[in-house]
Amino acid sequence: MRRCPYCKVGIEGDLVKCPLCQSKLTGTGEEPCYPKFEALKKRSLFYKIHVSLAWGLLIVGLGLDFMIGLRLPGYPDLHWSLLLAMWLMVFEFGIMRQFKPGTGSAGKVTMLVLITIAMWCVTAHFFGLMKVTIDLVVPIALAGTVTANFVLAMIDKNGNTMSYLLSGVFMGVVTGIIFYFVRSEMPLAWAICLMVSAILFAGAIIFRGRQVAAEFQRRFHI
Ligand SMILES: [Zn+2]
Repeated sequence: MRRCPYCKVGIEGDLVKCPLCQSKLTGTGEEPCYPKFEALKKRSLFYKIHVSLAWGLLIVGLGLDFMIGLRLPGYPDLHWSLLLAMWLMVFEFGIMRQFKPGTGSAGKVTMLVLITIAMWCVTAHFFGLMKVTIDLVVPIALAGTVTANFVLAMIDKNGNTMSYLLSGVFMGVVTGIIFYFVRSEMPLAWAICLMVSAILFAGAIIFRGRQVAAEFQRRFHI
């Protein structure tokens, strides 16, 4: 058995580094405790290729934009490569999250959608698409996320999805209502988003009432 000189614990198997403090272990190793993760290795190669491609794209983009001065037709002052860089980072982040164990599917879906919406808003601002974004793209994305989280909540046994479903419903309903009061009219997509949120909230109560109640108790300490 190997030992960590700092944590003063014995570590079974053939680990070289301490799983607690990452220091080098002393002593001789034994038979490995855990199976080798072949799938993980393959994914990591895929990930490296993917990151290299992203870096390549980024560098070529920056070069064309800043050094050669290639601009998008109709947007002569727009540094499009900066937007490209932002999107590449989002995809890297999104893909990294997919490989990270420990986060539930609902968390991944929700985070990815929220970040993508934020990035899309920045992009839309530069291309003059802000109105269609707020009136159409955001409510559709939100309704889609709430629906996806509802499906996940129905198949998830641990109940980890419920918080994401309820936050999505909350965002859908509250934003819809704010729109109604600020603009004294509600864009059609927001109305649909609000209705979808309300229907799925009712569905969550009907099918998973106890989980919904438990989630509220956990969040609001009631
Ligand atoms: Zn240690």
